[in-house]
Amino acid sequence: MEKLKNYINGQWVASAETQTTPVINPATQETLATVPFGIGTAKDLDAAVQSAHEAYLEWKNVPVMQRVQPLYKLKVLLEQNQEELSRIITLECGKTIVESRAELQRAIENVETACATPTLIQSEFSENIARGVDEFMIRQALGVCVCIAPFNFPGMIPFWFLPYAIACGNSFIIKPSEKVPLTMVKVFELMENIGLPKGLVSLVHGGKETVDAMLGHPKVKAVSFVGSTSVARYIYSKGAANGKRVQAQGGAKNPVVIMPDADLEVTANIIADSVYGCAGQRCLAASNIITVGDGGGQIKESIYEAAKKKVTGFGLDESVEMGPVISSQSKSRVEMLIEKGIGEGANLLLDGRGHQVSGYQNGNFIAPSILEGLPLGGELVKTEIFGPVMSLLPMKDIEQAIAFINSNNYGNMACIFTSSGASARKFRNEADAGNIGVNIGVAAPMAQFPFSGWNDSFFGDLHGQGRHGIEFFTQTKVVIERWPREWTRKF
Ligand code: NAD
Repeated sequence: MEKLKNYINGQWVASAETQTTPVINPATQETLATVPFGIGTAKDLDAAVQSAHEAYLEWKNVPVMQRVQPLYKLKVLLEQNQEELSRIITLECGKTIVESRAELQRAIENVETACATPTLIQSEFSENIARGVDEFMIRQALGVCVCIAPFNFPGMIPFWFLPYAIACGNSFIIKPSEKVPLTMVKVFELMENIGLPKGLVSLVHGGKETVDAMLGHPKVKAVSFVGSTSVARYIYSKGAANGKRVQAQGGAKNPVVIMPDADLEVTANIIADSVYGCAGQRCLAASNIITVGDGGGQIKESIYEAAKKKVTGFGLDESVEMGPVISSQSKSRVEMLIEKGIGEGANLLLDGRGHQVSGYQNGNFIAPSILEGLPLGGELVKTEIFGPVMSLLPMKDIEQAIAFINSNNYGNMACIFTSSGASARKFRNEADAGNIGVNIGVAAPMAQFPFSGWNDSFFGDLHGQGRHGIEFFTQTKVVIERWPREWTRKF
């Protein structure tokens, strides 16, 4: 069984930690590899930071036009290896091969966007702020920056940060989720061939111990985290207390409002894709489906049909539309939450528990499930399930829907389906969420835009991707200059 190595100072090295945790294929329970896990990983992290700091001292003065050249090579290598990377994502994470390919596409788009850093990093200049005095602002790199990633997008999420960080002159260390480290191992094998100086990018495996070592290390200047809200809050507060710049994206409970004037068939299919795509394990998965004025139950009927026909199974099978959830613990938790919903008074309209896939009896499969009539004051309408479960919540009008949405602690995404411009405008203006969809099921910002979570879905100021990435990975320096003519004449 392969024990994964770290990539530090341009070399693959064994961890100082001998304990490991298995990387498990969620469709079969087969162990794919083992990953270092324990207190010894703090030593690995320290070694990575030392070499990353040395690399940064050289790299920050390399002209930005040269700093983006490796990114062009990386884009080509990611495209050439997209199929192999997609298979790795599916094997360790469970999502379908189609979803894995799409995930990598989003990663590549971030690399492309970061190639524009020579323009994006340009700054401001004011001539004659006083007579003969000019003032300007420059953006300089921070130093060693780190990324702590979740399990659900192993190939995409590190790319919300890495290309911008290095294009801005920083060095970068990634700690992938211990559940899905293999995708980044392959990415780092590719990055060995793009001409980056040794030490500039590092891969360090582990869990909480590695994270705590990052948060406590004086040479780590910035932390980019994506994961659950409880860990995001911890990382934000501990990182900030230690003087680090932190962006921490957390969990979600995403509402979608269906107005009576929405196109029924199209809406039902898009919503089923949003709820059940990646087996509901997307931070932008729709979860609370609010049906406004569906007196005849037509919308409910269409959604039920769209959910029921989804094919659940092993992600490498091209005909499969939904894979397993990440672990047996996760499966038990989701099934327990369905039970909790019934306990709160909901009707289980569609029951995906106990779903069997022929040839994959040990997989963590749950088929699409629908709860209807959950009490709006209950716990489950506010709990992130992170599995293929939809809650259908009938409401009387858009005002009630928006008030309900704004009473939720999260704020990652809110969507509306309607053919009325007035309803759409009211919604985007009043709904408290950072990513809004109008007739869109997964309102995932493209690489040029910030991934704008709000409230308990985000702790910090500058988000990942695009211009926010450039701002997060640089610090501003303002220069005020006076060059009196008389002084110049002296020389
Ligand atoms: P997680 O919080 O369990 O783990 C994320 C990372 O933190 C992993 O690398 C893990 O090793 C580390 N970690 C776990 N526990 C820790 C602890 N106690 N101290 C320090 N580090 C710790 O999240 P997950 O289960 O991997 O991912 C799913 C969650 O991520 C969901 O809540 C989902 O909504 C969220 N997510 C959010 C976004 C977003 O953009 N807002 C995107 C993707 C996923």
